[in-house]
Amino acid sequence: MSSARKINGTAIAPGLAMGPVYVVRATPDVVPSWSLRSEEVEHEITRAREAVATVTAALEARRKRVAEETNERDAEIFSVHRTILEDPSAFGRIVEHIRDKRINAEACVQLLVEHLEQVMGGLDGDQAGRYGADVSEPWCAVIAELSSSERREVRASEERVVLAAVDLTPHVVTYLDRDRVLAILTETGGRFSHGGVLARSLGFPCVAAIPNLMSRLEKGLRVIVDGDRGTVQLDPDEESVDAFLERRRRHLARREALAVHAALPSITADGQLFAVQTNVEGLRDIETYDIDHTDGVGLFRTEFLHMERSEFPSEEEQYRVYRRLLELLEGRPVTLRTLDIGGDKRLSYFETPKETNPQLGWRGLRISLQWTDLLRVQLRAVLRASVHGDLRLLLPMVSSIEEVRETRRIFEGVRTQLIGQGYELAANVPVGIMVEVPSVLFVLSDILKEVDFVSVGTNDMVQYLLAADRDNPWVAHLYDPYHPAVLRALQQVAEASLRAGKPCSVCGEMAGDYATALILLGMGFTGVSMAPNFVGEVKYALRQVTMADARELARQALREDSGSGVRALLEEARRRLHDSLTGEETSQT
Ligand code: PEP
Ligand code: MG
Repeated sequence: MSSARKINGTAIAPGLAMGPVYVVRATPDVVPSWSLRSEEVEHEITRAREAVATVTAALEARRKRVAEETNERDAEIFSVHRTILEDPSAFGRIVEHIRDKRINAEACVQLLVEHLEQVMGGLDGDQAGRYGADVSEPWCAVIAELSSSERREVRASEERVVLAAVDLTPHVVTYLDRDRVLAILTETGGRFSHGGVLARSLGFPCVAAIPNLMSRLEKGLRVIVDGDRGTVQLDPDEESVDAFLERRRRHLARREALAVHAALPSITADGQLFAVQTNVEGLRDIETYDIDHTDGVGLFRTEFLHMERSEFPSEEEQYRVYRRLLELLEGRPVTLRTLDIGGDKRLSYFETPKETNPQLGWRGLRISLQWTDLLRVQLRAVLRASVHGDLRLLLPMVSSIEEVRETRRIFEGVRTQLIGQGYELAANVPVGIMVEVPSVLFVLSDILKEVDFVSVGTNDMVQYLLAADRDNPWVAHLYDPYHPAVLRALQQVAEASLRAGKPCSVCGEMAGDYATALILLGMGFTGVSMAPNFVGEVKYALRQVTMADARELARQALREDSGSGVRALLEEARRRLHDSLTGEETSQT
């Protein structure tokens, strides 16, 4: 590969891909801004005009509906909004900005909004403030329409693309349908950020933390992405393309070899069963995945079901998804996690406060226990679906036994209500907790008396144990899943669960590394759950070893006094296991 146009970043998700770049400029709460070439100016004015017309028509339709369903007076606000959009001087201002500043329509409408809010803010009294919000609201709808029309344009084309963006967020990773994305490139982000986790889960090769990425790319530029090595080749020459094709051929051969192992039972060479389950973000993951390869869903991140929409899914919608998932799994366990939003997982339609330390803030179960109506809707859907398979409920971000008790109390209340309404429910829905917050490590034996299983979320547990934000590239070198403190915490969890006779698994990213999975087996964990892509490797490794081998590996890892010592040990184990599979390099780092 020639190096002139090669750029480096951090390898986030393995795999190789080649294709044209599509630059994702929008994030849900930032109005995108980019400069225009002179020949794009007229097209941009047309785009603005069309967006205003679309929103105007939608307002009129809403006015009619509200007038019919409620009354004329309540419908009046939509006429006011329509009149605001029809103001020729406002639209004239947008056109002027597009021509003079040569920036996109969204950014110009945003300038108008700021101008209107400034003018209204200058007037006296509450009334003026309220009027300011009213005046800008329809224009904000125009911005939203412009952003989604840009997305519709790329959706309408058939081409598969390499998505490039500033931040590695779940929004960017799910920007287009899965079958349209070849790979993901970003300027920031790390492997354990939720965007990184999602990219691995969806099987997209991903390279992040590429300095000045956006200034080096333009729409349509062809690139080769190497998610194993963390490199990107811009505008590759013939020699680079040939080398890419050859490596991809070897990759595919390896993947085929692993698929054979993925279909085999999850059992050690001396007959110990160890559950190898999958993490799922949505129904689509499971519908496109060879379901026979998994021992169940160890983690269904229900927040992604919420993120794909423009409002909270109803009880009925959730019920249908959970039921379908259970039916697809045909009796194998489905571990459904209650809504785990907050931190970097945000819903466009649910405003959460701006927090200085969002990772230490309003997240996961903390939100559910404050907004109990949301929790109740989800629990009703869960319980109604429970008759269709082996459903288990998992609680995220637990930090104390009181939270478990409170959730169980609500859960029982919902159960009683549903029975009263005549629903048929499973006799028992096991409830477990995610071990993520370090306080839980010290009270786990108490909590284990009140729950049925535990699952360690190492992505979060590592950040909290080591005080190193999983999303922050400045402390990425300190975020070390192999820090001895992390391994000793994991051992504590396994031992406490064994003593309590309750199953324990790991569903954080480290479980998808096949050598690490053997250490977890040796520690006493009863299973692991990971992105579907890694199941083949983990099963392959599992079937090569005896329990004595796994225990010895765990003992050696726990004796190490540094992360680098553990990594060297893992590297050696990987080499031994890997030599017998194929010659291609490992996909894990
Ligand atoms: C974890 O924290 O390890 C986990 C599995 O949950 P999430 O990555 O969704 O926070
Ligand atoms: Mg977590």
